[in-house]
Amino acid sequence: MDSAEDLTRARDLVAASRRIVAMTGAGISTDSGIPDFRGPNGVWTKDPAAEKLSNLQAYVSSKEVREQSWRNRTGHPAWQARPNAAHQAFVDLERTGRLSAIITQNIDELHQKAGSDPDLVIELHGTMFQTVCLDCDDRRDMQEALARVRAGETDPPCSECGGILKSATISFGQALDVDVLERARVAAVSCDLMLVAGSSLTVHPAAGLVGLAASAGAAVIVCNASPTPYDDQAAVVLRGPLAEVLPALV
Ligand SMILES: [Zn+2]
Repeated sequence: MDSAEDLTRARDLVAASRRIVAMTGAGISTDSGIPDFRGPNGVWTKDPAAEKLSNLQAYVSSKEVREQSWRNRTGHPAWQARPNAAHQAFVDLERTGRLSAIITQNIDELHQKAGSDPDLVIELHGTMFQTVCLDCDDRRDMQEALARVRAGETDPPCSECGGILKSATISFGQALDVDVLERARVAAVSCDLMLVAGSSLTVHPAAGLVGLAASAGAAVIVCNASPTPYDDQAAVVLRGPLAEVLPALV
């Protein structure tokens, strides 16, 4: 458990900051029943072959990979997941008028479901609640495609052009949306506190935003169950459960 002294220091830092940017990752959603990828019960830890489902090249070139992806999507826990106390903490922080952005690596929309202003949420890795056509960029509600899968289509093509449909998320081998990344950069360099929650900070460019904020003079608080490469740049590092730590900080 974190020391009372560390918690107090972190709480004082949050209270003294005026432009806070959150950086959230999979660890914030595990209490909502959505497994992370690299943790002890992570999707890729338990099934290393599943990682290729997140590889764009494999997805485009293999119908089998796409069919497996659609089966996984139809049964994904995110469709039923509810936000937890950690998401709620950022809603409470927003109400104080001092939260300027939530940069998230998550694709589960739980910040928005908790009640965070959608305009504050910067989804670095996109959203699984929409599909995008890899050929014509047509975007639609994911539930439309899932209904087609449940009706028997194993790999539903784009209704507009017949192209390959994918969730509107960033896969390995796929570049981040430049506008989204630019918004995140602007938020990072203009904050006075970056509050990292539930990210191992191993995936770039998301992780690099923390270094960017620190270089620009922001204080950094890292709340994550395991060590991150940015712990030595942090004013305070907290390891406790996020659903307890974050409400205590705000
Ligand atoms: Zn299309």
